[in-house]
Amino acid sequence: MYSRRDFFKNAAAVSIAATSVVHAPAALSEEACKVFNPDLQKATSPEQAIQMLKDGNARFLAGKTVNCDLKLQVKESSQQQSPFAVIVGCIDSRVPPELVFDQQIGDIFAARIAGNFVNDDIIGSMEFATKVAGAKAIVVLGHTECGAIKGAIDGVKLGFLTKMLTNITPAVDAVAGFDGERTSKNKKFVQAVADTNAQLAAKMLTDKSEVLRELVANKQLVIAAAMRNIETGEVTFL
Ligand SMILES: [Zn+2]
Repeated sequence: MYSRRDFFKNAAAVSIAATSVVHAPAALSEEACKVFNPDLQKATSPEQAIQMLKDGNARFLAGKTVNCDLKLQVKESSQQQSPFAVIVGCIDSRVPPELVFDQQIGDIFAARIAGNFVNDDIIGSMEFATKVAGAKAIVVLGHTECGAIKGAIDGVKLGFLTKMLTNITPAVDAVAGFDGERTSKNKKFVQAVADTNAQLAAKMLTDKSEVLRELVANKQLVIAAAMRNIETGEVTFL
């Protein structure tokens, strides 16, 4: 079966040859813009789902994002959804998951909360997205220069934010024996906490959820942590 994965393989070859083309050529975009459906979702392995996200970020970095007719996609996705991945990301305006990974309507579930931590409600959302709705990968996406991470490091007190930031405290505490100042002014410390926070969140998904643990054990799901550099737009898997 010809799939969007095959398309993107071909498109990559095309885009290397035609470096002056910013978006995929119109004729090819039609295939690339097909809304993800149950057949495509079933035929996608967890590893392929991760690769599709990596390929999407590569297109983003290369300025080769796919330009789809969103109104048509709304129409095509109106009766069902079969996304291939879930992203847990920060609310930061510079890291919208669909743009970061060059995905379209119906492609990914996205949960966003300041500091991209997970709690029982988000874990429940992940269980729905995977066990019920069939997504094959979960990526916890942190980013550099995260304000929530900095706030947790400095122990910011403000309204409900005070309690919310305690969700990130375990990551601050886990970065032990760090050489240098343990404040938000120390960029290296901030980044070490951000990396640890994303990794701990990814680990917590299977530590706490029997549903997700079982999917991973049965090789129906892959869970990963990743970091987006807000200066370059690049996503690095941790
Ligand atoms: Zn952030």
